[in-house]
Amino acid sequence: MKIKKISTQIKKIPLQTPFVTALRRVENVEFIRVCILLESELSGIGEAPATKAITGEDLKSIEHAINHHKKDFISKTLEEALEMLHKLSIGSSAKAALDMALISLQAQEHTQEIYEYLGAKQEEQIETDITISLNSQEEMLQDAQNTYKNGFKILKIKLGADIKHAIEITKALALSLPEAQLLIDANQAWSVEKSLQYIASIQADKIELIEQPVQAKDLKGLQQITQNSSILILADEAAFSLNDVKYIVENDIADMINIKLMKCGGITKAVEILEYAREKGVKCMLGSMLEGPSSIYAAECLAMAYKDVIKYVDLDSPHLYKKGFMV
Ligand SMILES: [Mg+2]
Repeated sequence: MKIKKISTQIKKIPLQTPFVTALRRVENVEFIRVCILLESELSGIGEAPATKAITGEDLKSIEHAINHHKKDFISKTLEEALEMLHKLSIGSSAKAALDMALISLQAQEHTQEIYEYLGAKQEEQIETDITISLNSQEEMLQDAQNTYKNGFKILKIKLGADIKHAIEITKALALSLPEAQLLIDANQAWSVEKSLQYIASIQADKIELIEQPVQAKDLKGLQQITQNSSILILADEAAFSLNDVKYIVENDIADMINIKLMKCGGITKAVEILEYAREKGVKCMLGSMLEGPSSIYAAECLAMAYKDVIKYVDLDSPHLYKKGFMV
């Protein structure tokens, strides 16, 4: 069936508390929702948040990219539209929003849910980590303890450039929550030296992994850390596309990869990366930005279909929305 109409809307969901990492501070989840309507009246939804610090796209550029190209998609079949989309030179988040709407429609045309279409036998609850924002040690401890008490056993701890604070907070968290699984995310804030200092100060049994310690472009530095670390190293901002992932895996630059729909350009591209990771025996994290509910659901469907490859799921956005707020 052919595409009849594409429309976009800007959406905003307030957060319970501000989200703070080494790269940014935000108080709302803001995203573009795209709706693709077929001549059969079936409709598919896709979403993309603004994460200028990571993908370089804001709401305006995502909306502009979609609206600028939408006329080319009208009267195309889903297969034609997908092929055309992934040849366009537009941002990866704009691509991801369109891709997930198209994949949702393909699933509907097969009278399947997205997770079935991707190969999962049944829908299941996916256990996500919860992010603990970068704050004072006292606030981070309090936040982590409350989150753990609320039933979340996997915590993603955001750390900043102050390595002394990073080491102290990690030790304090490991001591106060010995049963929690702690994932550390430095969001590119450290040097190689600081990273190695951190690793030497923290025993491997206290934390599960360290995510993106150095600048995304510093692949040599990341490799040096990985090869000298007793703790698993995960590449995030350094790994956008399948080509990035292949380069990182083939050159032992990181132990694991964080796959996000907004970095790779949608479900179609995430599947290519997951198939490659499955073939190579590389474990992954299925992550997200701060996103709307539909794009998080699309990522959850991937997590259901690739349970053997995805070791950690970082899809906590809906848990961070202000209570009772949904769009
Ligand atoms: Mg990260």
